[in-house]
Amino acid sequence: MRTDRRGFLKIAGIAALGLGIKPGMDALLGHGLVEASPEMLAQGAGEGIRWAMVVDLPRCWATPGCTECIAACDEAHNIPHFDDAKKEIKWTWEEPYGKVFPEQDPRLNSSNLGNKLALLLCNHCDNPPCVRVCPTKATWQRPDGIVMMDFHRCIGCRYCMVACPYGSRSFNFVDPRTALDMNKVNPDYPTRTRGVVEKCTLCQERIDVGKIPACVEACPQHALVFGDMNDPNSQVRKIVESRTTLVRKPELGTRPQVHYIVS
Ligand code: SF4
Ligand code: SF4
Repeated sequence: MRTDRRGFLKIAGIAALGLGIKPGMDALLGHGLVEASPEMLAQGAGEGIRWAMVVDLPRCWATPGCTECIAACDEAHNIPHFDDAKKEIKWTWEEPYGKVFPEQDPRLNSSNLGNKLALLLCNHCDNPPCVRVCPTKATWQRPDGIVMMDFHRCIGCRYCMVACPYGSRSFNFVDPRTALDMNKVNPDYPTRTRGVVEKCTLCQERIDVGKIPACVEACPQHALVFGDMNDPNSQVRKIVESRTTLVRKPELGTRPQVHYIVS
């Protein structure tokens, strides 16, 4: 997309919201973003496929230092690596358990739980605030729950980044292709440009041809389980029904569909 078209869309989008840039950002920052209506909370709970993921953290922790899932995601989606952390692009990444689940008391576990690393990705929330604030519909939710990105429609306003309570979105401050080895890019997945937001799309391009997400396939510990939460016989559904699992920041009402087994 040419910059002038993106600039036009940005102005048009903000105008459509009735917001100036600063008042708009202030409104998003200071506002309870996730006041879900009953209709919104019913999303994803209906019929049809509802994709979800389970991360079995004790299985991850059985192989300390393993980042096979992240490497597979990065390779599949041409994700660049910058030395400058401010330019970082992350679809899947790790953070200490104590930071991921600050409401849980790590003192209740004697195995240094708070410092162990947990895999993070977009939660493909049932009630995604990122989708609600996007002025151009560059991010939207499919009927199967996957929260998508259209890089060509994105005007880089970053409202979605402010709205996401999980830090699941990254902004391309510079041309990401400058940090890629163009001889090694995956030709089946588009590279992005400066000025757009990106994030995990649950490997929609693989799911739609009958494959499982690259991270799930790559995990040597089978710590990642992917499936249809609406199917009572699916493995994800059975795990969430039978085990104690956590989702991040449940109090916000976003209803994340990445569930964590922690013990
Ligand atoms: S984790 Fe963030 S980016 Fe992903 S759907 Fe939820 S609010 Fe949107
Ligand atoms: S996806 Fe995010 S940055 Fe892109 S237009 Fe929508 S709200 Fe703005």
